[in-house]
Amino acid sequence: MSHTCKAALVRCMDFRLDPELTDYVRAQNLLHDIDVISIAGAAKNIVDDPQGFVMTQIGLSVKLHEITEVHLMHHSDCGAYGGSRMFASLEEEKAMHIEQMQKAKEVISTSYPSLTVLMFFAVIGENDRITCVEPV
Ligand SMILES: [Zn+2]
Repeated sequence: MSHTCKAALVRCMDFRLDPELTDYVRAQNLLHDIDVISIAGAAKNIVDDPQGFVMTQIGLSVKLHEITEVHLMHHSDCGAYGGSRMFASLEEEKAMHIEQMQKAKEVISTSYPSLTVLMFFAVIGENDRITCVEPV
């Protein structure tokens, strides 16, 4: 008996991402079609340890569920990167997260060339809720 899904989502564990992140997954028509890998800093673990926990999880997702996509989701004010106070502006913060996700994408693509890697950045507003999620 096999069961497959389309994608794996690498997201931060931060509670402030929900329920809006789940709403976003639903809007992408991926609810019940995506493995969720939740860890502080999301793709940070891939950059810091290319043979580590998250890459192992992605490998299992490929092997067990035959995924074809990996979605990397980073967010503003991420504690794993020291939070927004470490950056002069949201643009600077976003640029650093995009750079991190691009490095992670290279690691994933090297190990799994057939996977499509998509990157997203969520902005957390002053009310501790996601105000927007955008592809990058
Ligand atoms: Zn975070």
